Amino acid sequence: MFHRLISISLRLTLWFGAVLLFGWLLFGAAMWFGLKHSLTAERRQTLERRIDRLEELLERDTSFSDSERYGDFHNFASATGNGLMEIFRTSGSLYWRAPSAAADSFPWPPVTDLNRTKFIHIIAKGQPYWVLQRSAHIGSSPVVLVAAAPESGNIVLLHRFRNALIASAPVLLLIAMAGGYWISRRALSPVDRITAAARSIGIRNLSERVPVAHSSDELQRLAETCNAMLERLEVAVRKLKQFTADASHELRGPLSLTRTIAEVALRRPTIDQESRASFREIAYASANATKLLEEMLELARADAEPLDIALEPVNLASVVEEACSMARKLAQQRGITVSLAISAPDTMTVLGHTPSLRRMLWILLDNAIKYTPESGRVDVSLQDSDGVPVIKVADTGIGISESDLPHIFDRFYRADPSRSEVEGSGLGLAIAKWIADLHHAQIDVSSDKGIGSSFTLSFHT
Ligand code: ADP
Repeated sequence: MFHRLISISLRLTLWFGAVLLFGWLLFGAAMWFGLKHSLTAERRQTLERRIDRLEELLERDTSFSDSERYGDFHNFASATGNGLMEIFRTSGSLYWRAPSAAADSFPWPPVTDLNRTKFIHIIAKGQPYWVLQRSAHIGSSPVVLVAAAPESGNIVLLHRFRNALIASAPVLLLIAMAGGYWISRRALSPVDRITAAARSIGIRNLSERVPVAHSSDELQRLAETCNAMLERLEVAVRKLKQFTADASHELRGPLSLTRTIAEVALRRPTIDQESRASFREIAYASANATKLLEEMLELARADAEPLDIALEPVNLASVVEEACSMARKLAQQRGITVSLAISAPDTMTVLGHTPSLRRMLWILLDNAIKYTPESGRVDVSLQDSDGVPVIKVADTGIGISESDLPHIFDRFYRADPSRSEVEGSGLGLAIAKWIADLHHAQIDVSSDKGIGSSFTLSFHT
């Protein structure tokens, strides 16, 4: 369901955005770790350079006295930025005290006898520091030179970098998704055109084709494949139409011949009762078969031919009056009353095709009479409902059950087996529906089983 709702371009955009975001996060994380690594290396190098210089100072000339060396150490320690520098004995006690108070109060990690160099990461007063310990000699005494440098500057930089990465992600994502959506919409717009064209093609306009974009890609192939399929369908439908026309032509002849032979036989006075009854049945059955054949042809033609029937202004009042007077003749034989009420007959003009409108009305009236028991009523009216002409055919007949109602406009649908008592093909209402569609009219039905049915035709145009 979800897949049906979101378009391919939207899905592509979401994928595009997700991949980009993932890539951006990976790239950001790699950059962040790279930056952290180089900042740490840089900080360690600074410490190493500092200790190198101190070592050089202390070891440069063996003729220097201890107090001269202490003086050098004192000057050097005062000159370095934070003064965090000490010289310990390998036993851990201070060898020389540094001149700065910061070094005095600094929680120096314990020193041990070292091979050469050792970096220690510690937290002092809530701040991270790197401490470098290096073994050296002052004269002949083994000592450990120690220096520390804060890492907070690095951390601020790393935080800023991380925040910039996080803040830029939604903006970048938005720009990338908007770009992705635009590109995919552009790339897929031929699909919309193909869909619209394919949707508008039906059996009546099978000669139309979907547009082909000459882009030498899958979409061009899709459009060409659709067109090749339409071509094959058109040929097949043309053959079917030809077959239907031929079949009707071939069937009509034998059917009317059968009927004529039966009617001629019935006129013969010498014919016995039994044969007379059989010939009457043959005449009746072939008349019904001819009617059915004509209805089938009518619908087959409606399916296959383009809707090019010329519509002209038709006065509905005269069509309804004409149909009712024909219906009265039929109804009289069955003791059924047909009433007609027309309001404002001169204003009931619609654009239509008179023979089709007559046919549609006749189907409704014929059904109303067929399915109404003797001495029932058929009430026909033509009214104006808010500027819409509405024809209503209501009867006091057997009615239609709720389960049958949705199907009665289907081809060959007849309500229930008891209908076999009433002659019919199940095609009448399908034809009426087709004619209503042709006139952009709406055909509705309401019915109560055992009470009657009411068909309304609303001409909205
Ligand atoms: P049919 O040739 O059987 O009358 P239609 O297509 O005209 O075919 O009607 C389809 C079915 O709808 C009928 O078989 C009948 O069961 C039902 N029907 C149509 N009109 C009426 C009506 N006025 N009263 C009761 N049933 C009806």
